[in-house]
Amino acid sequence: MNSPQHILEHVFGYTHFRDPQEAVINTLMASDDALVLMPTGGGKSLCYQIPALARPGCGVVISPLIALMQDQVEALQEAGIRAAYLNSSISYDEAQAIENQLLYGELDLLYLAPERLLQPRTLALLQRVELSLFAIDEAHCVSQWGHDFRADYLQLSCLHEQFPRVPRIALTATADKRTRAEIALRLDLESARHFVSSFDRPNIQYRIEPKDNQRRQLLQFLKNGQEGQAGVVYCLSRAKVESTAEWLSQQGYTALPYHAGLPAETRAEHQRRFLREEGVIVVATIAFGMGIDKPDVRFVVHLDLPKSVEAYYQETGRAGRDGETSIALLLYGLEDVVKLGQMVESSEGSEEHKRHERTRLNAMLGLCEMTSCRRQALLHYFAETLEQPCGNCDICLEPPATWDGSEAAIKLISCVYRTGQRFGASHVIDVLRGSDNEKVRKFNHDKLTTHGIGKDFSGSEWKAVVRQLIVRGYLEVEGEFQGLKLTENCRPLLRGEEKLQLRKLPKKAPRAQTRNTA
Ligand code: ADP
Ligand code: ZN
Repeated sequence: MNSPQHILEHVFGYTHFRDPQEAVINTLMASDDALVLMPTGGGKSLCYQIPALARPGCGVVISPLIALMQDQVEALQEAGIRAAYLNSSISYDEAQAIENQLLYGELDLLYLAPERLLQPRTLALLQRVELSLFAIDEAHCVSQWGHDFRADYLQLSCLHEQFPRVPRIALTATADKRTRAEIALRLDLESARHFVSSFDRPNIQYRIEPKDNQRRQLLQFLKNGQEGQAGVVYCLSRAKVESTAEWLSQQGYTALPYHAGLPAETRAEHQRRFLREEGVIVVATIAFGMGIDKPDVRFVVHLDLPKSVEAYYQETGRAGRDGETSIALLLYGLEDVVKLGQMVESSEGSEEHKRHERTRLNAMLGLCEMTSCRRQALLHYFAETLEQPCGNCDICLEPPATWDGSEAAIKLISCVYRTGQRFGASHVIDVLRGSDNEKVRKFNHDKLTTHGIGKDFSGSEWKAVVRQLIVRGYLEVEGEFQGLKLTENCRPLLRGEEKLQLRKLPKKAPRAQTRNTA
């Protein structure tokens, strides 16, 4: 058997291990279990591929992504490794041939989808052969709180019971403390060695802007240094994915849609073109990306607010895996917060689950509305400390101006109170700005003393005030209609005992532009 170092050099063609690859590999070489948390692009694959080659027997890799298995296996075969995959796309005869290879000890690595692995027939087959290890990729799929939850993953704890002597390694790029604990618990990895790498991705520049005219903002961003580069544009809905891809194509970009509602062949084709051609932009829902191995993705744009910081971090993490300068741009608006809030309220989960989702959404909104370094906040969220502001996020590069928003806040809070603490932001803003639309008249809100006291601000300016009051805990959003409510925190502000510094909308915000050019 060859040593891990020998395999690193002669099979994979690299000279040095990255931190903590070597320590992880040594753990498996000693037949111990490992739980590995490494950001996307950190080099997780070698952590199991090398010990699978260095140990006797075949390594079994469990991955939820059938579409990616083929690419990975092809790349391994190219490097002279005896790798194969079994999934539903393979014919009976092909599967038979692979099973024979396995039985004759002619395989180094076998990739399986969890549902395939868990079939009694597959488990029985694996019992008959020597196994070097089990690698459980995308291990966060075991977490019921995350958006990648797969019920099959829960049953993977049976591996420990049925194959007690085969070491296991679970890997993921997503992991706040809670998810990490859940992975360890559900996969029976509490006594495994845990390897937690820094989540900092210094080559990614984080930029978060209020949404104004999102297409114009996107176009401006692309024209400003991203021409001919590969990137991903995330949207919340399938319809928006399609319209955005079409619109980008009309603007002369190679833009391909990707979402779970497209035929499998179309998705595979678009993914393939993204990987192999230059300068392709994929416009996608979150269905796209888990495990995508493309090193030179130069930008990730979110046209809608992700529903948690974890999701944001994971999706932006697909940029710049090669370590080169990359940009993550997020455009967000109050409408996003309302829409996501409604999705949480109308979801099937328990009250506890909803509360948890609300907290996660608020943390995401908090990241958007902050006035200090975003990377520091992001890392803090993953329980890491960055001593100095990063110098490479929009806030560090262009510190936002602030203004004394106390009076505006009081107007808003009063209006929420007068309208009965049950209307959503857009109605409250209509009342403040003195609208006499049907809804305002229907509720007699045109008779309120707060009607029209906020005419001096535009709708977007008021929305910015609302967002910041939510983030800072003065207002809460509640219920199916996402009605605004006051919290206890409002008292000192209303009594004039507290001043409130708010963030100004960025200068290039559309309002100013449309006014000037109108
Ligand atoms: P992850 O699964 O953590 O997102 P990968 O395993 O796909 O990351 O690795 C990301 C990139 O880094 C790949 O292109 C891989 O070949 C490269 N890589 C991994 N380990 C090393 C190493 N020790 N030296 C050089 N390149 C490496
Ligand atoms: Zn910063």
